Amino acid sequence: MTTSVVSPVTPLTENIAVRARGLTKVYGTGDAQVTALDHVDVEFGKGQFTAIMGPSGSGKSTLMHLLAGLDSATSGQAWIGNTEITTLNDKALTNLRRDRIGFVFQQFNLLPMLTAEQNIVLPVELGGGKVDKAWFNQLAEVLDIKQRLGHRPSEMSGGQQQRVAIARALLSKPDVVFADEPTGNLDARSGAQVLDFLRRSVKELGSTIIMVTHDPAAASFANRVILLADGHIAGEIANPTAEAVLAGLDAVSGIRPTENAASSVVSTGSTTGNAFGGRNA
Ligand code: ADP
Repeated sequence: MTTSVVSPVTPLTENIAVRARGLTKVYGTGDAQVTALDHVDVEFGKGQFTAIMGPSGSGKSTLMHLLAGLDSATSGQAWIGNTEITTLNDKALTNLRRDRIGFVFQQFNLLPMLTAEQNIVLPVELGGGKVDKAWFNQLAEVLDIKQRLGHRPSEMSGGQQQRVAIARALLSKPDVVFADEPTGNLDARSGAQVLDFLRRSVKELGSTIIMVTHDPAAASFANRVILLADGHIAGEIANPTAEAVLAGLDAVSGIRPTENAASSVVSTGSTTGNAFGGRNA
């Protein structure tokens, strides 16, 4: 008689960095009630650069805040890797954000009295961790800030400051980096450089980045665009070009989700020819 060997089942979530199921957020009560997110199901792959886009008020910030554990859901579930974050208490969420999530904001949020290097290592050192020097050097290399490490923020351009902020977000090797309008404070040229560095971080360092932006040209640097409309996922675009994103945005604006906007806007563009400086740049 032979013993059957059951091979371990590969979890479906193996390549998924962030996931939401039925994620819903309702603000206010009664007449003032707003459903900002309405049963959103979405997945973000590891080692992918995804942009979240949609008209103003479509729920982009709300989705990002819920996925990053910065705000609580009304109902539904969200996971970072295999950790369900929608059931964590405040302390566990604080630890999860510190250990497993990186943030890049429109305002660079660097401390003015510290050098670039001190800013980059600060969160890891405050958390009691040890800086991985080889990884630090690799980040400085890929983000092209080696010559700026001894400079204070006031001695750097906006683009350089944002690259320092990206290095700070990546130093702890987070499972995912959330970037909220990372080029919102930059001119078109520095914005394009920062986006190119974000893309390189994904390609060369294996980072996972989820970026909220209103700018089709910025979104065209991502591997994939998720389109939100009225608190629903209204479509997605693989390998987006700025033109494909604009067309997708036009298609979802004003369309009710029951009309199945998704099927009409799923398209594949090309990542080439995505010169920054599109309609909203
Ligand atoms: P976006 O980032 O796409 O502009 P938001 O996620 O900020 O959209 O907002 C989605 C909807 O939720 C909007 O109708 C907005 O007015 C509403 N909303 C967002 N935050 C709050 C809040 N704190 N209180 C009440 N309504 C809110």
